[in-house]
Formats: sequence, structure tokens, C-alpha cells
Amino acid sequence: MYDVIIVGAGPAGATAALYAERNNLRCIVLDKAIFPRDKICGDALSGKSVRIMEELDLTSGVEKLDGSEINRITFGGPNHSHFDVHLKGNKKNNFITKGYVIPRKTFDYFLFKKAKNSTEILEGFKVKDLIYEKDKPAGIRGINRDGKEQVIEAPIILGCDGANSIVARKLDAYKRGMDNTAVAIRCYYEGVEGLSNQIELHYISEVKPGYFWLFPAGNNRANIGIGLSKNDAKKEDRTLSKIMEEVTQSKYFRSRFSNARPLEKPKGWNLPMGSIRRKNHGDGFMLLGDAAGLIDPFTGEGIGNAMVAAKYAISIAKKAKKSGDYSESMLRAYDDLLWNEIGKELRTSTKLQSLSRSSFLLNFVIKRASRNQEVQEIISGMLSKEIPKDELSSPLFYFKILFS
Ligand SMILES: Cc1cc2nc3c(=O)[nH]c(=O)nc-3n(C[C@H](O)[C@H](O)[C@H](O)COP(=O)(O)OP(=O)(O)OC[C@H]3O[C@@H](n4cnc5c(N)ncnc54)[C@H](O)[C@@H]3O)c2cc1C
Repeated sequence: MYDVIIVGAGPAGATAALYAERNNLRCIVLDKAIFPRDKICGDALSGKSVRIMEELDLTSGVEKLDGSEINRITFGGPNHSHFDVHLKGNKKNNFITKGYVIPRKTFDYFLFKKAKNSTEILEGFKVKDLIYEKDKPAGIRGINRDGKEQVIEAPIILGCDGANSIVARKLDAYKRGMDNTAVAIRCYYEGVEGLSNQIELHYISEVKPGYFWLFPAGNNRANIGIGLSKNDAKKEDRTLSKIMEEVTQSKYFRSRFSNARPLEKPKGWNLPMGSIRRKNHGDGFMLLGDAAGLIDPFTGEGIGNAMVAAKYAISIAKKAKKSGDYSESMLRAYDDLLWNEIGKELRTSTKLQSLSRSSFLLNFVIKRASRNQEVQEIISGMLSKEIPKDELSSPLFYFKILFS
């Protein structure tokens, strides 16, 4: 009955449904949650998310959602020196001019409703296992909203089911490890001072390698959080909540929090990082988004890569349908296309994440950048260009930082 089963209706799954509709693929989306639902996140949408939203004609709708428009990014270092980059896109350089911070409860529901306009979606449907035909995945088995077991068949399954993906686990797609995972907590606040059209990433000593973020989330609310590598978090004797409390009450930040009030208890979640290339395909399946471990290790962004993965997975699903070939060798093209686009920047971000272990280097780079327009332009491009971070692999970039 279906060409594709999409497990998960977050950014990866909903975007895949929207591309599937454009490609005349019959798909069904299954999500264990009832929407609107929360997702622990920094809520920032930049570079690639903005490009895919434009491609899917979603931008005007997104602009009406509750949240903040972003035109500036502040980078702070361990010694609290900082510099700003302005998103200064134009048609020629392909940079974006703005990004957004939109609470995921709102953003994901928007995508979900768009997908639901054209696609069958079952909410409250928990996928429990896969079913097989001649040892090859042929569908899923799950529990529906009425508590009844249900089997759904299709020749392709897209695992868009997040960091604890049941699809990846059941297919034993790759080894899970702490080395390539980060952990982060988020807390919404109201009344934080000094928020405007900028997002702030503070690479401070308390969270190494990682950062403390302050994002304006609209309606006088802020999305505040910290994240660091899972291995480092394990070694800490303080909880992440405790570290966040200390940071917000520290000399540098406390004045901004003097009239602020948390709106919830901090909540944590894992971030599977794209610091290694995993195998995200096999006979009859492809993994996308967090299920595929595509989060940028330096910035913690995963929504854009999840949306890009959706575009490529659907283009390959269409080819597979046309040829009637759903084999591993056919679906390999998905991983190749995806890595071709994001592999280079993920490698660069992995290097940057290692560099951020050194407070000395971070302070040095941030100090230079704060004084040097050209270095700021490069970093701005890195964050807002369609294919960012290319310049960072060039020795010229480091030369400019060191000697300009
Ligand atoms: C604290 C934190 C801050 C972050 N900040 C940012 C940021 O500012 N910007 C950014 O771009 N990225 C950020 N990320 C990363 C971003 O949240 C993820 O990369 C993104 O959500 C991935 O989207 P996804 O669709 O792959 O998965 P998800 O958004 O996790 O969606 C998965 C969906 O699958 C469903 N599901 C799971 N299991 C099952 C099952 N068995 N059956 C049916 N359905 C199931 C879930 O209900 C969920 O709806 C952050 C992550 C964390 C943890």
C-alpha cells in the first residue's frame, strides 16, 4: 500500500513527508507522541534549515510563528572577550540574512501540520519492531493509539525517530558510543536582560568542550542551556543543572539574570554527533537526522542536517521505486549524497570541537576575531553560507587569524 514508512514526525520525518509528496511517493508517518509536543532543543534555525524551508515554500509561514528573528551571533570566550558576526547575506554570496529561534513545540507542530495536509500521519503510534520478508525489512510492528498492535508494510523504512532510534537499534545499524555523543540541558526563562536579535554562544571554562547558550525565544522568553561531551559530563561531579546554576549566577552573567525566572526545571537530552561517518542505510531502510547521528559537534545544530537528509533520502527512495530495487547497494547513494554535502563541514566542526578544549586557543581566536573584520566575515559566512565552513579547512584562515 505504501512506498515509504516514516518513523518519527520531527524535522527529519515531517520534511521527508513534504518531499515525498512532491515526488509522488505514497508514505505514512508514525509518531509515538501526540502533537503539539515539546522537544528539548536550543530552538535555533540557521543556514541549512532556512534554505530547505525556502525550497519547500515554508518561510512565510515560519515568519508568522511565535519566536525571534536572528541577525547576529555573539561568540564569547573563556575570558569573556567576545565578538559578533552579522548575517549579511546577498544573492551573490548565498549567505542567509536571518535565522530564527522558534520553540520546537511550535516549529515542529507547524511542520507536522504542513505534512498532515498531504500525508497520512498516525500519532500516538509507538513503533516496537520491524518485520522482515526473506530476512529483509518489509515493514514495522507497533502499538497504535488505541493500544492495539498494528503491522504496516512498505519496501522502504525511514528511521527519523531521533537519538534513541528504534529503527537503528533493531537493525543494529551502527555501534552507539559515548565518544560521539554530547549531552545538553535546556531551560526556558523569562525576564533575562540584554536579549535582542542575537543568539549567544559562550565557550566558557565551565563547559569544555561545549558552550553555554542564551537564545531569545520570543515573548520575553529565553532559551538557556549548556551542553558538553558525554564523556566529560560523566567525569564531572556536578550535575549539568548545577553547572548551569553556577554559570547564571557567576560574576559575568548574574546581572542579566537578576530579574529572571525559570519557567521549568532544566531538561536534558542526548546529541548524537556527526564526528564519525556512520552507515545509515541497508536493505530497505535509511536513517535520518538524530537517528543517523548528524549533529554538528561544534555548534550542536542538527535540524538543518536532518532536513537535508530528508531531501536526499526521498530522492533515492524515488529512484528505488522506479527501478524496483530496494537493496543496500541501491540505497547506498543516499549516504554518499548526504556525506558529500555535509561530511566536510562535520569534519571541520569535529576539529573545532577539539580546539575548544584549549581555553588559550579559544581566547586567542576570539580576541583576534573581535579586532579583525575579515576574520569576522569568514566566520559569519561559515554560519550562514549554503555550504559553510569551507574556508576553515584552508590554511589561509589560520594565517589570517594569526597574523592580521
Ligand atoms: C539540548 C539540545 C539543544 C539543541 N539545540 C539545537 C539548536 O539550537 N538548533 C539545532 O538545529 N539543533 C539543536 N539540537 C539538535 C536537534 O534537537 C536535533 O538534531 C533534531 O531534533 C533532530 O530532528 P529529528 O527529526 O532527527 O529527531 P527528533 O526531533 O528527536 O524527532 C524524533 C521523533 O521520533 C518520534 N519517535 C521516537 N521513537 C519512536 C517510536 N519508537 N515510534 C514512533 N515514533 C517515535 C519522537 O516522538 C519524535 O517526534 C539540540 C539538541 C539538544 C538535545
